[in-house]
Amino acid sequence: TGRVVLITGTSSGIGLAAAVQAAQAGYTVVATMRDTTRSDALLKAAAEAGVTVDVRRLDVTDPESVAACVTAVADSYGRLDALVNNAGRANTFATIETCDLATYREVIEVNFLGVVAVTRAGLPHLRAAGGRIVTVGSTRGLIGQPFNEGYSAAKFAVEGFMESLAPTAAGMGVRVVMVEPGPVFETAFGANSGLTRESLLTEAGPYRRVLEPYLDWVARGAHPGAQTGREIAEHIVTALTDPEPPFRVLTSDWAREYTAIKYTDPEGGRVRAMTASWLAREED
Ligand code: NAD
Repeated sequence: TGRVVLITGTSSGIGLAAAVQAAQAGYTVVATMRDTTRSDALLKAAAEAGVTVDVRRLDVTDPESVAACVTAVADSYGRLDALVNNAGRANTFATIETCDLATYREVIEVNFLGVVAVTRAGLPHLRAAGGRIVTVGSTRGLIGQPFNEGYSAAKFAVEGFMESLAPTAAGMGVRVVMVEPGPVFETAFGANSGLTRESLLTEAGPYRRVLEPYLDWVARGAHPGAQTGREIAEHIVTALTDPEPPFRVLTSDWAREYTAIKYTDPEGGRVRAMTASWLAREED
């Protein structure tokens, strides 16, 4: 069988690319998704790359689906060597007064508690295999981003969780790695949210005056740090195969320089100026 990796959220984007590239690297890939009828793009990409993947259903917010999938994988292959926690949900571009509590809960369910649930279910098998846990975080999980409060909070939670787990897991023979992309523009991340500029601005109410310049900034899309899903997937495969992976993999020079602000400016002045600049306003 070779080494077995289970990846979440593989119907699109980074997860799809990671599933194909891990198979190319020789892994037996269990490519999981909420809805397996949405596997066409993955199966096409795998066929084009000359590899196969084992598509299975797993909804990270449904503990029964998580447990059933992990147990079935262990039964099928007799081992589980690695997890890639990739499934995530984009932010809605809402802000505190325009985002209901239920949405914050959903964002935290997918991006944070989903990671906890899959990691918890996988660990007994990973311990037996001397395996590893690779989790897709975000530069937004290290530095906050306007109109991404819920998403950033969930990704910050993942950072705290994995940083805390890492030494304990290492003591049990399991390596923990965070992969931290900056913006990735070629995934379905934005489109999956089903929102338009007009609907967002209408719903923003009094926040329109800060949302509009922010959406303009996003729409310009010419971000110096922008990467493709495939580039991020390469870092994920390296995180799986590197005998001595770092705890954090910053996927670009931009991501490294940007997140370094956090450590060189602990009082937060430069972070505040940076995030305010996205609203095209002087920091007050
Ligand atoms: P994407 O929307 O293409 O991929 C996210 C995947 O997660 C989708 O396939 C979606 O169906 C799946 N998913 C959502 N809810 C799920 C659930 N409950 N159970 C199982 N799967 C679920 O976007 P992407 O950019 O490929 O995102 C992958 C990861 O990369 C996410 O963790 C995201 O937070 C992170 N990330 C994305 C960006 C970006 O700019 N796109 C930047 C940094 C980090």
